[in-house]
This record gives sequence, structure tokens and C-alpha cells, in this order.
Amino acid sequence: MTYHCPKCRMDNTDPEDIRRKHCAFCDVFAEDLRGELVTELQEFQFSRGLTRRDCFSVAIWTVKYHGNEESRVVHGRVRDSWTGALVQHAWVETPGKGTYVNEETGAEVQLPLTLVVDYCQIDERARFMPRDYYYEQCGVEATPPPKRYTFEQCMLLAAIHRNDGPWEDPGES
Ligand SMILES: [Zn+2]
Repeated sequence: MTYHCPKCRMDNTDPEDIRRKHCAFCDVFAEDLRGELVTELQEFQFSRGLTRRDCFSVAIWTVKYHGNEESRVVHGRVRDSWTGALVQHAWVETPGKGTYVNEETGAEVQLPLTLVVDYCQIDERARFMPRDYYYEQCGVEATPPPKRYTFEQCMLLAAIHRNDGPWEDPGES
């Protein structure tokens, strides 16, 4: 068993480093990476001060500032890569097009591709991913399916519930 550092990408084998999720190479704890400010959003008024722990708020302001009309805040359950426990999480999905190369003809082909933006990933490589790959990597639960909200729906639900999520549907037990 190893602790793979999301920052410097070295593998730690010391049992004490593994237990504490600490990297001996760059001397950083995973927990400190979670506490970092979301630098991608700091220039924007309402998202200043958000850290990589604040996934529900970060997703809302990611749609507002870095999304477009088709972007959605998505709430779902993901598997914690460390403990294996299911946890509530929020991220952003934006439909778009991916460019692929046809290996036989060499021609570039454009196909629909939904991109996930998740600034709360402590590994910066995991912050932009095709949806299918993100779902696989994060162990997104298919049942119940993730819920999708527009920015306007988020503003309304946040006002009703007085928090940025997760929100229970009316009538949901
Ligand atoms: Zn490291």
C-alpha cells in the first residue's frame, strides 16, 4: 500500500505517511490541500474564500463564472478513494464536443462529449475530465442518479434551504 501524493505525484511507502496522508517528498498533508483556497475562483466576488472542501458552493460559482447556459451543477454520491465510504459531492457538467482522430483515415471527428469541471479535486489533473472517465475515477453512484440543477435553480434552492446543498427534494424521505 502506498500514499500517492496528489501534488508532487510521488509514492509514499512509510506506514506513518500513509496513515496520515502525508507526503515526505514535498511535506504536504492531503488535508492541507483540501483546505487550500480555490484559486480558479478567487477573483470573483461571491466565491472568494472558498476552499476545496466547499464542493457545493464551488460548483454553483463555477457554473456562474466559468460555465455557460448549458452548464449544470450536479449532486451525487461518490466513493471516497481513501475510506471507500460513499459521500455527497458536487461538480459541474457542460455539454460540448470532443475532437477524436480516426486512426484509419487520420481525419478529425467531432463527437458530443460532456466535460466535468471539479475544482475541489486536490489533484489538479482531475479538475477537468470527460464525464465517463470522471464517473469511473470517482466511483459516482448510478442509483439514485445524480441530480442536475441550473444556476437559477441553485439560487432558488439555496435561498429556500439557506445553504448551498445538498438539498432534499420535497417528498423525498
Ligand atoms: Zn508530495
